[in-house]
Formats: sequence, C-alpha cells, structure tokens
Amino acid sequence: MQNTQLKSSNGVAMRIAIIGAGLSGLTAANSLKEYADVTIFEKYKEGGLAASYKNEEKDYWIEKFYHHCFRGDDALLKMIKKFKLSNKLVWKIARTGFAFEGKIYPLNTPFEILRYPFLSFFDKIRLALFTISSKKKNYREFDDYGVIEGIRDELGDKLLDEFFMPLLKSKFGENYSRVSYAWLLARVSIRSNRKYSGEELGYLRNGFQQLIERMAGEVEIEYSSPKISKNARFSINGKDYDAVIYTAPLPLLSDEVRYAANIPRIDYQSSVCALIGANGKITEDIYWTNIKDASVFGAIIEHTNFMPREDYGEDLIYLASYSTPDSELFNAPEEELKKLYLKELKRYGFKEENINWIKIFKAKYSGPIFEKAYLKKVTEYRTSLENFYIAGMTSPPNYPERSMNGSIKAGLEVAEVVKRDFGFA
Ligand SMILES: Cc1cc2nc3c(=O)[nH]c(=O)nc-3n(C[C@H](O)[C@H](O)[C@H](O)COP(=O)(O)OP(=O)(O)OC[C@H]3O[C@@H](n4cnc5c(N)ncnc54)[C@H](O)[C@@H]3O)c2cc1C
Repeated sequence: MQNTQLKSSNGVAMRIAIIGAGLSGLTAANSLKEYADVTIFEKYKEGGLAASYKNEEKDYWIEKFYHHCFRGDDALLKMIKKFKLSNKLVWKIARTGFAFEGKIYPLNTPFEILRYPFLSFFDKIRLALFTISSKKKNYREFDDYGVIEGIRDELGDKLLDEFFMPLLKSKFGENYSRVSYAWLLARVSIRSNRKYSGEELGYLRNGFQQLIERMAGEVEIEYSSPKISKNARFSINGKDYDAVIYTAPLPLLSDEVRYAANIPRIDYQSSVCALIGANGKITEDIYWTNIKDASVFGAIIEHTNFMPREDYGEDLIYLASYSTPDSELFNAPEEELKKLYLKELKRYGFKEENINWIKIFKAKYSGPIFEKAYLKKVTEYRTSLENFYIAGMTSPPNYPERSMNGSIKAGLEVAEVVKRDFGFA
C-alpha cells in the first residue's frame, strides 16, 4: 500500500509517537510513516546501543560497543539491502582465543583446539558433540533450567569450570548463575557458523552507523525525554497521539504507565566498555579473546583484526565488561576505570605507550538478564493499556538473546500489529 495515510473524521492524519530511536524505534517508524504521522522521541543525541562514536581527528565512525552480525540475521540483512548498503557488507572468519595467566591461546582450527592445554582430548570431543546436539534441541524447553545445572549435567564439572564459566562471567558479569540454559543452547545453535578455520561473522564496513543514519534520515526525530500521559488520547510534550510505541528500556517507564500497561519487572544487565585507539595490537590476528583469568574485563575484542586497519588509520581494541546498573564497576568514575583496565591489559603484553586515546562507554540497561523462566516475561507488542505498545529487547524476536536483528524484527512486527489495530492493513 502506498501513500495511504489514514485520516480521522476531521481530516487529520493518525498520530503515532515512538519512544526511542534505537533499531526497534527506527524500524517501526520507517514501517509506519506512510500510514500515519509518526514522531520519534529520543533522549540522547547519540542514540541506542548500536550507536557509534566519531573520531573527528581521523574522520571515522566506530561503534561504542563492538558489533557484528550473523548469516542468519535475515531482518538486518534485508534492512541493509533496503537502505542500499549491501556493497558494504563483508563476511570474514573472526578468529577467537582464550587468555589464561597472561598467555593467549588461539582456539579456531581443529589443530589449535587439539593443542589447547587446559582441556583433555575427551573433553574436547564432548564439546564438539555438544555443539552438534545443541542445534537439534528446542531451546525453549530448557527455559526453566539454569545454565550452570545444564552444563554440569550434560558436560561435567571440568568443562563447566574450565571452559564455560569464564564465558558466562564475561557475558553476564555477576549475574551469570541466574541465566537460563535456553540462552546457551540458542547461542550455540542459532548463532555459531563455524568454518574450518573459525567462526564467520559479518560487518558493515565503515560501521553500522551508516545504516542507522539512513534509517534516521527518513523519519522525524524530536530529541527530548517525554513524559507520557493518557486521557482519551496520549499526550506528549503538549501534543496528542493516537498510539505510542515504547522501545526504550522498561525500567525507565514511569510507574503510572507501567502499572496501567501491566508490564512485568525485568532485570537488566549493564555494560562498561573501554575503546582504545592504538598503534599496536595485542594479538596478531585474533578478533575475540575470552579472558579466563580473574579480570575486570571479560573479553578483548580487536576490531582491526577483523576489519582493515586502513579504514581507521590506527588499531582499535575494545575491553568488554558486563555488570549490573547498581554495581561498583558500573558506577566507578571514568578515570578510575581507565587505570584499572590499563593495569590489567599490561598482563597480556600490551604497552601503554602504544595508546593514542582511550574512551569509556557505559550502557545502564544493555540487555535483559535471560534468567531461568524468562519466557514468561517476554513482552507482547500489545499491552493492557489501550494503544500503548512495547517493542525492543524484551520482545519475542529477542528471546533468548538480544541482537540488532531481533530489534529490527521487533520493530517490523510491532508495526504490523499497529497497522492491524488501526485498520491500515
Ligand atoms: C556491549 C554490546 C555489544 C553488542 N554487540 C552486538 C552484536 O555484536 N551484534 C548484535 O546483533 N547486537 C549486539 N548488541 C545488541 C544490540 O546493540 C541491541 O540489541 C540493539 O541495538 C537494541 O536496539 P533497540 O532499539 O531495541 O534498543 P536501544 O538501542 O536501547 O534503543 C532504545 C532507545 O531509547 C532511548 N531512550 C532511553 N530512554 C529514553 C527516554 N526516556 N526517552 C526517549 N528515548 C529514550 C535510548 O537512548 C535508545 O536510543 C550489543 C549490545 C551491547 C550493549
């Protein structure tokens, strides 16, 4: 349907407010703009979790938090095509490693895996069989089952302690023991696309910023943090709206609206990420190193071991930590965090004099904790508050792991629901 803006009896177009200009909000706005008068309200100029930082001196954009995509990210790949960026999409083997006692071990090819000294041959075979069997499991059936119990029952204590524990701590910080086994099974079965020499990942060369900019360029965005009130219609910043689609983190929703919309309480984790511009690498060719040592960061992500260094004129390294919004780590001052990160980075042979600059990025609500029995908390698009919709990281396509693809899908799906409810489709 083209140019079918629905008008009410007084000839005024239907008005829809979208809260949040992340990928969910931008997608919903682009899908609805030909049917209604759509305004996005965004609190921060820099945007959502997939937003980028601009290095003005060297003139490039880089995600504040490392981002890559997967072959199965159908909605994201379609969006990239729609906004004419397919020529920028690249697929590469992203090499991974494990760091222990200051040494980094590559873990990609069968030979590297066989050589890894901290697991027995038998455990390595069990791990390979686990990867194959996970793909056949319906992960939803394991929603009520804890990840620790699941790994222990299926693979034993040694693999749990020596292999999975560092990965879980790296991904969920102090919340790791709350996580559902469904999360791990889904992660292994949906997302791993292993080739002989490692996992294949995708990236939009020169940054996902390009997609976000094009999506944002097609819609109206008002930068403010609106207060929503509901009478016959919704009132936001002095204007009336027929429907509201809320895509920001749920803990930021006012109690009044949350209660009326019957939104469950969902605990979120937070992210702290150091991004370093440097003249020098930590490893020769590893993109993602999981840290087995006790450390303030759980992973080192060497972006320029994935994308060409020439695109940036320097090496780019992320140090990633997950935590909770009220944790000491999340609330520590930036200068303290920088010192802490650099001190620990030295353990892996990285010299401080190689650093050009370092920035700390924080996201207070960086994703729901996919805890046991989380399926009951997945938010449907329609809520019990009439014409108030929820879409984003807690929506069905983002279970049991949130992603750019999941948020784009949530934006598309909520738009379909709104179209149906308002008779647009
Ligand atoms: C460290 C990290 C690494 C990641 N890596 C990957 C990856 O490799 N691949 C992948 O696919 N995904 C990755 N993700 C996940 C991905 O970025 C998110 O799932 C996705 O971007 C979420 O989009 P969204 O629109 O649902 O939410 P958000 O991006 O959170 O958008 C919500 C928007 O609401 C705005 N907002 C908040 N409060 C208000 C308010 N009061 N009023 C108005 N607006 C408000 C926010 O500023 C934000 O722009 C990563 C995330 C993090 C944190």
